[in-house]
Amino acid sequence: MNYFSLNKKAPNTTFEEAVVKGLAPDKGLYFPESITPLPKEFIENIENYSNNEIAFEAIKQFVGDEIPENELKRIIEETLCFDFPVFPVDENISSLELYHGPTMAFKDVGARFMARCLGYFNTQAEKQEDVTVLVATSGDTGGAVASGFLGVKGVDVVILYPSGKVSDIQEKQLTTLGQNIKALEVSGTFDDCQAMVKKAFLDSDLTDHMKLTSANSINIARWLPQMFYFFFAYKQLRDKSKRLVFSVPSGNYGNICAGMMAQKLGLPIEHFITGTNANKVVPTYLETGTYEPKPSIQTISNAMDVGAPSNFIRIEEIHNNDLEALRNNLSGFSYSDEETTATMGHLLKSCNYVAEPHGAIGYVALKNYLKTNKDVQGIFLETAHPVKFLDVLYPGVAEKLEIPPQIQAVIDLEKVATEIKEYDELKAFLKS
Ligand SMILES: *Cc1c(COP(=O)(O)O)cnc(C)c1O
Repeated sequence: MNYFSLNKKAPNTTFEEAVVKGLAPDKGLYFPESITPLPKEFIENIENYSNNEIAFEAIKQFVGDEIPENELKRIIEETLCFDFPVFPVDENISSLELYHGPTMAFKDVGARFMARCLGYFNTQAEKQEDVTVLVATSGDTGGAVASGFLGVKGVDVVILYPSGKVSDIQEKQLTTLGQNIKALEVSGTFDDCQAMVKKAFLDSDLTDHMKLTSANSINIARWLPQMFYFFFAYKQLRDKSKRLVFSVPSGNYGNICAGMMAQKLGLPIEHFITGTNANKVVPTYLETGTYEPKPSIQTISNAMDVGAPSNFIRIEEIHNNDLEALRNNLSGFSYSDEETTATMGHLLKSCNYVAEPHGAIGYVALKNYLKTNKDVQGIFLETAHPVKFLDVLYPGVAEKLEIPPQIQAVIDLEKVATEIKEYDELKAFLKS
């Protein structure tokens, strides 16, 4: 499979190079040259396939012959080491719980898949040169990347996080694992961390001497495996005759965009809904036709505090850059923190369901859509376990939550992080 840059000023490239580079040389995001729908019989008989088999069918054309079949199957098996249950919550509404993985965030799947692809390519390379994955996190990405890449040979991981601005659990998840995972505690904001990472990628003093790549959803190996969720949800539907919509709480729009790829592969999804917080550039675009990225606004659903969503350009490509086509396939709603908290309260009291802010926004956006769209069933994605957002849950809930074993395991470990303030310190760290 070949990939082209959405900026159209870089040569087409292979799956391997797109994964190793992350971004095209013209700074564009990579996109597959073709998307071939899966056979109808496969989708109609999806219950007869295991999750591993479904994932293999969905991803194989995007990898092509660059990873042998048995290796790709092994990578998938190691990636999908947990469940993806669909849980009924309300009339015609279910939750797809994506938080049962090692770090209890949906990013576990993409991180684990990408780590193993990089690891495979590294063992095949003529010159065995370590790859350094450099990533800035505002919380959830760091933990998933740390856990997903832990112990993968030939890959070093450096995670930058803003001091005092991630939750205690999140900090433990990214600072306690050791081995090939290094944490840098930056005195500054998430934007400062991200600016340093961007600077490093453009610094030829570094890039001439080491292989640097990113591990956020611009990387195709983190983005594409997220297609699996939508297939797994469809497989679990009891009534497949009823039209199906998905509501995806979105920040960088990687997850929802992967859902649209699943739709392109033939999965019968009628419509998508995006729920966001005050960072509402996409809902506003759908309403007004004007696309205006903005600086990010801080909210309680902080994994979606993104003012300029990086994957939106892929969504436009999927819809042939046609706003009307996009409006037919995507509805957008945005909610304030007060509305988000009220929704968590409603879910608890009326549906007996404990949700964290991101999932709550997915639910309320879906509920809103169903008001005027009858005879459809909806699934919202619950993207993180409530325990990861203890300080912003509905009042009284945090005290009653049990800490899951995979979280308890890191809470007891010792934090190891190197404190830095400036870019030069990052550079010295990478060179050492
Ligand atoms: C990353 C994240 C999101 C947003 O996902 P995108 O693919 O960036 O749109 C939503 N919820 C949680 C909990 C996340 O960690």
